[in-house]
Amino acid sequence: MSNLATDSDSERCRCRAHATPAPELLEARAAEIGPGMVVRRVIPHRQQRLVGPWCFLDHFGPVSLEPPGMRIGPHPHTGLQTVTWLLEGEMLHRDSLGYEQLIRPGQLNVMTAGHGIAHSEESPDKAGGAMHGLQLWVALPDAERHRESAFEHHAALPVVHEAGMSATVVMGEALGERSPATAYSPIVGVDLALDDTGGRELTLEHDFEHALVVAEGTVLVEGFEVTPGKLCYLGTGRERLHLACDAPARVMLVGGAPFGEDILIWWNFVARTAEEIAEARADWAAGRRFGRVEGYDGAPLVAPEFSGRPRAGGGSS
Ligand code: MN
Repeated sequence: MSNLATDSDSERCRCRAHATPAPELLEARAAEIGPGMVVRRVIPHRQQRLVGPWCFLDHFGPVSLEPPGMRIGPHPHTGLQTVTWLLEGEMLHRDSLGYEQLIRPGQLNVMTAGHGIAHSEESPDKAGGAMHGLQLWVALPDAERHRESAFEHHAALPVVHEAGMSATVVMGEALGERSPATAYSPIVGVDLALDDTGGRELTLEHDFEHALVVAEGTVLVEGFEVTPGKLCYLGTGRERLHLACDAPARVMLVGGAPFGEDILIWWNFVARTAEEIAEARADWAAGRRFGRVEGYDGAPLVAPEFSGRPRAGGGSS
């Protein structure tokens, strides 16, 4: 995938003294996931390849798409889970296990690629319209990454309403609630809808590594202004997080136990070695391993040439 913007330098905030380090603000970069579809690629960042097991985070929109809207043809994945979270619009998922699933805001699609799966994503009825969301990947730990592929749709998730905030527990456990989604390592993902009635404090899992992205609005995170297009890296060892805004805002907090394994990301594959990536690429090109996606009106994606030197930062979606 093409990287349309150069990485800019990170900005380490230095202000008042904190018991824990100040948040670190890292610039997202623009990435093209399809013709004319440019997204903010927040993770991986060259300074932050992973946050817990989260290895990929694209923020797309808000945009109003002309018909036919979003169209991402069949493409393969290995070694990861895709986590699709919409804030606006609808998306139709099809995969090589035979699932066809419409997803709406507040609902969750989790696809466990394991050894290999293929899927397509598109605007229903080729209609276009409003689209705003997050596409995330979770790296599977070594013991789980070759498992059978699976798909789950959760039509509703736990939502916690507190003063000034509604929190949807997308993955893992937060605010006393647990997401029904299957996870293979300690993880958290929480969507926070903040209103403008002042600050609020969240309790974090001390041993987790955390980061957040602002999807909408402007949020003061421990007093530092965070807007869309930044990765706000929070590190580990943080037990409380202070958030404030003076207009409604939307935040995705992600985290988990530090992953502790070196991964390679190339195109839509998460692997450990260049040989594994070359094999996955060859299997996709030859129509092996990943199965067929039925019902998508268009061609499958073709993998780029593989130089044998994978780097973090690939990904169709
Ligand atoms: Mn995908």
